[in-house]
Amino acid sequence: MTDPLLAEWTAPYGLPPFAAIGDGQFGPAVEAALARARAEVAAIADDAAPASFANTIEALERSDEMLDRVLAVFYTLVGTDSNPAREGLQRDFAPKLSAYATEVTMNTALFARIEDLWARRDALELSDEQARVLMLTRRGFVRRGAQLEGFARDRLAEVMSRLAVLGTQFGQNLLADERDWSMPLGETDLEGLPGFVLEALRAAGEGTGTERGAPTLTLSRSVIVPFLQFSPRRDLRETAWRAWTARGANGGETDNRDIAAEILALRAERANLLGYDSFADYKLETEMAKTPAAVRALLMRVWTPARKAAEADAVRLTAMMYGDGVTGDLAPWDWRYYAERRRAAEHDLDEAVLKPYIQLDRMVEAAFACAARLFGLSFAPVDVPLHHPDARAWDVSRDGRHMALFVGDYFARPGKRSGAWCSAMRAQRNLDGEVRPIVLNVCNFARPPEGASALLSYDDARTLFHEFGHALHQMLSDVTYGSVSGTSVARDFVELPSQLFEHWLDVPEIMAEFATHAETGAPMPRDMLDRLLAAGTYDMGFQTVEYVASALVDLDFHSEEPPADPMRRQAEVLAAIGMPPAIGMRHATPHFAHIFTGDGYSSGYYSYMWSEVMDADAFAAFEEAGGPFHAETARRLEEQILSVGGAVAPEAAYTGFRGQMPGVAPLLKGRGLIEA
Ligand SMILES: [Zn+2]
Repeated sequence: MTDPLLAEWTAPYGLPPFAAIGDGQFGPAVEAALARARAEVAAIADDAAPASFANTIEALERSDEMLDRVLAVFYTLVGTDSNPAREGLQRDFAPKLSAYATEVTMNTALFARIEDLWARRDALELSDEQARVLMLTRRGFVRRGAQLEGFARDRLAEVMSRLAVLGTQFGQNLLADERDWSMPLGETDLEGLPGFVLEALRAAGEGTGTERGAPTLTLSRSVIVPFLQFSPRRDLRETAWRAWTARGANGGETDNRDIAAEILALRAERANLLGYDSFADYKLETEMAKTPAAVRALLMRVWTPARKAAEADAVRLTAMMYGDGVTGDLAPWDWRYYAERRRAAEHDLDEAVLKPYIQLDRMVEAAFACAARLFGLSFAPVDVPLHHPDARAWDVSRDGRHMALFVGDYFARPGKRSGAWCSAMRAQRNLDGEVRPIVLNVCNFARPPEGASALLSYDDARTLFHEFGHALHQMLSDVTYGSVSGTSVARDFVELPSQLFEHWLDVPEIMAEFATHAETGAPMPRDMLDRLLAAGTYDMGFQTVEYVASALVDLDFHSEEPPADPMRRQAEVLAAIGMPPAIGMRHATPHFAHIFTGDGYSSGYYSYMWSEVMDADAFAAFEEAGGPFHAETARRLEEQILSVGGAVAPEAAYTGFRGQMPGVAPLLKGRGLIEA
């Protein structure tokens, strides 16, 4: 019997045969794919022929192809639709994959070939992309310990394996805490809630398997945030907020606090073994920021005006609260509620009136329309078997040429990891003939009632555009080597395409065309649209404070001595920067998945801000050239940034697009934190 995971995939677009794949098949398939990868790596290392770019670097690019293919299916499923069996597999795979990666890095014969190529690099007549792939490959080996010997070598392997296990556990604990908590709401608990919040609560109730349609509070952001914004019941808001912020800190088996401490200690040890003072020094060396000091300088530059703005807002919100007869201090569970009332009053924006105009389907169309105008892309819905019934797919083409398959999986459900993300089920590459990507956008929007349109907040629509910006980075990729394809770029550069694309949501003609009422089909009235866009920087002090606080804690954790008690250190960092007491961190330590479930954003949560410096400036390039859809600027954006992935160094890519690197001023202006 052939394993469907390992056989050739004959479904349209080379999609995996999802229906034929059972969870029981992943274990054997991963073993088989690992065996194959090991055999290929051994063949490269033991090749009797002298090292060449083709027989070493290109061969390495190919060696993991089957493993990548199997794992892409697995991680798509475990990320969007987890269950105990899949979580068990994930725990099982983590140390095995870490061991394999270490084995490759520590293969001395293989590394000797890479070093040989590196020494002769100027004589190899490599293309620019090949030279960069060689540099990145060698750098990856060195940074994973290829030059270590003796104890340090063995210890690093142990550390890496343990980190893989802990990161997996952290994410699974968080998912368990999010899944396990729910609170049914009685009739009197619902007073004052607008209809769309009631709908979200009812949909959440169905998801938890409670009595059909019973309104239930869950810890999904798409449920809890609207509840905190709109419930006049201060007691319930407090309960909700405390449950939400306790994720990963509830004691017992799913508590993440000790795991966080162990991860931080092991990362520091890892950095020390590799010759760095701190994990942040190690991590930032290959980012645009380069040093912890550069990151801190940017974050503090933004922090100071943001805190000032938030403190001024806190005074206004406290006065409103007193007006309700509530005394005492404004609490974190009060902020969103009074901020929403203030927004309604000052900008005359009622979310309940606004929301029917922001339909998910139309916002997807809006994103497609922007991509069509900027890059000439066309999107045609296709009916193909996908990983979940919620998911939908579109064939993406340009001038009749297939560019990508785009998959959107938009609704929150139990078993789906929280947040929103973009991944490539298959990355673009041209090494052995052109391979076009399969790109996935995953969000956690509230599911609509049966037969109704899914409605978004303006923030949700922004998330949709953000992830679609990442998708464009994948879909427009045009490189030879998969290792530098699409979003395989420096972490503090990767948010540039995504955050830049958010700017098109704020282009008035886009909302004017695509914001239409779910029931009447009428376009959003012009004055409502004007008020919505004018409120763009509303509550930006709060948003900036909650984000920068998380970024500063992340930076401290990884640049200073690792804390034995991360919660205490977190409190110390917040005290030192003067965190406003009525604002919580966007992600506190026990549920800070960005930095603890893997290496990705560790000492890298600042990346959004670093990229924002560039996205503010990059969008200005369009405006200066003649408008948001200026064709030549879009062409240059694709040519210099979106198509080259990691094949070009980020500074060179950005400078190629814009001529020079930007300063911080456009970012502060964009956030309304300095006078325009
Ligand atoms: Zn992003």
